[in-house]
Parts: sequence; structure tokens; C-alpha cells
Amino acid sequence: MTPRVVVAGSANMDLVGLAERLPRPGETVLGDDFVMIPGGKGANQAIAAARAGGKTAFLGAIGSDAFGVTLNARLDASGVDMSRVRTSYGSSGVAVIMVDRAGENSILVSPGANRSFTGLTDDETATIAAADVLLCQQEIPLETVFAALRAGRAGGTRTILNAAPARDLPAGLLDEVDLLVVNETEAHEITGGAVGGDVMAALLALVPRVVLTLSGAGSRYADRDGADAHVPAFRVEVADTTAAGDAFTGALAVAWGEGRDILDAIRWANAAGAACVRKVGASSALPTRDEIESIYHAA
Ligand code: ADP
Repeated sequence: MTPRVVVAGSANMDLVGLAERLPRPGETVLGDDFVMIPGGKGANQAIAAARAGGKTAFLGAIGSDAFGVTLNARLDASGVDMSRVRTSYGSSGVAVIMVDRAGENSILVSPGANRSFTGLTDDETATIAAADVLLCQQEIPLETVFAALRAGRAGGTRTILNAAPARDLPAGLLDEVDLLVVNETEAHEITGGAVGGDVMAALLALVPRVVLTLSGAGSRYADRDGADAHVPAFRVEVADTTAAGDAFTGALAVAWGEGRDILDAIRWANAAGAACVRKVGASSALPTRDEIESIYHAA
């Protein structure tokens, strides 16, 4: 069964400039190469879900500028249904990223059109309600995340929240979440610093199911029915860990939407994360279903 996945989230154009060192305030530094790549957690996870084999639609707002044209084209070419995306007059979301030779970076995110993604339309609400899985992150207005999760819950759609980046959430938002996906930093921020085994317990007080991603150590899963399991990572040669979390979360939405057992879905998502870190790049490193399968079955 091909699951229908809806991602309601952000899209940014990442403008990445490389230089020997980062400029100090007021200083101009002559740099090296420049690349422009689609980014934003929403767009990345939509691409990840589409490549992983989900019938994926993106809901969000993209600017009327040249970046918007490129963003639309790139997501469309990745197999994401962009037919319901809003075009917002003005700038698209942009991340201006400077990276030095040591890999240190400085990032300025200008949310642009993402900020205008408010007030879900009837069509957007119906699209969410008709899906098998809804996937949200926290780079758009939280009232929209809340409304999308409510629409999912009301329609019987499984709701996944990747609580990234960590933000203070409106009361009640987490009540609409079926599965929370967080890394260790986000878990720490949400629970206000619970440590060790207490982190999962603290998160389960908020949501019924939790996946904690542990980078090279894989993931941990716990739920209110008493499950608590470590799902080990696949061993691969690491080239670049950028977007591993997006690859993982997009693939998890697809696998869970296919009706797989949750621990098997997490194992499959670990394979997607591993496939992503083998390659240099952000959205360009998000793996296809075949790449995920080859790692999943090789172990
Ligand atoms: P984030 O990028 O959101 O911080 P993580 O770094 O925890 O997320 O990575 C997400 C998932 O990607 C992990 O749960 C794991 O399955 C996979 N992954 C990340 N780093 C590695 C690695 N070095 N080797 C194998 N798998 C990895």
C-alpha cells in the first residue's frame, strides 16, 4: 500500500557561501564556491517522504520571487505534489549560510513567505483529513501547526510532530500528536532538562509515542503501552550528517503510513538516516526507496 503523506511546513532556499574563514561584523571576506539548495525542514521532509515512496503533498507558502520558482520546481521534480502550495507576494524563506574551511558556520534565516502560512483553508484541511499520515515541524507559525494537527486528528490521520527547532508550544498542541520525533537537544528543551531514562518518561507524559533520534547510535522508541526499545543505527561510512534527521523523519512517516510495526518502521527510518549521512549535501543527499532498502536488507 502506498501511503498518502501530507507535510505542512516550511520551505527555504539555502544560500551557502564557502570561505576560508567567516567574516567578522563589518568585514568583507573574499569567499570560495557558492551553492543554492532547497531547504527548510518541511520541504526536506516532503522530499524525503516522496523519495522513500510515499504519495506526498506539501502544504506551505512560497514567495513570488525567483527562489519560489526554483523551490517549486525542485520539489515537484522530487515527486512532491505542489498543487496546493500557496504563493505569497514577496520573498520566499531564505537561509543565508556561511561555512568556513573547518566546517564552522554562521546562519541567518529569513522566514519570508513561511510566516504567511496561517489560517488553513477548507481545501488544506480536507487534504490533511484524507491523508494516512500528517507530518509537521516547527518552522511555520505554531497556530498553523496546531490547526493542521487538529485537522489530522479529526480526520483519523496519524499525526507526527518533529519538534524542531525547539520552541515554546501553545497549551494543548501536543494533545493532538500521535507520535513525537525529537533529537536529544530538542528532548532536553521540551522536558526542561530531564536526564537519562527520565527523558522518555517526561515525554510520554505529553504524547502517547516518542522516537528519540540518537545520531550514530540510532533511535529509541517508547510508548504509553509500556514499549521501550533501542533501535540500533546501521553502520556506514559517514560523509556529512546534514539532513539525517529529515531523511529519518520523512521515511518514518512513509513506513508507519504503510502500516508497518512501529519498531520496524523506525529500523527502516534508521536505514534512511544512514543512507543520508553517506553522502555530502542536504536535500540532495535524501535517499531514494532503493537506497533505503539496500541498507535495510544488507544488515
Ligand atoms: P538530527 O539531524 O535531527 O539531529 P540525528 O543526528 O539523531 O538527527 O540523526 C537522525 C537519524 O539518522 C538517527 O536516528 C540515525 O538513524 C541516522 N544517523 C545519524 N547519524 C548517523 C551515523 N553517523 N551513522 C548511521 N546513522 C546515522
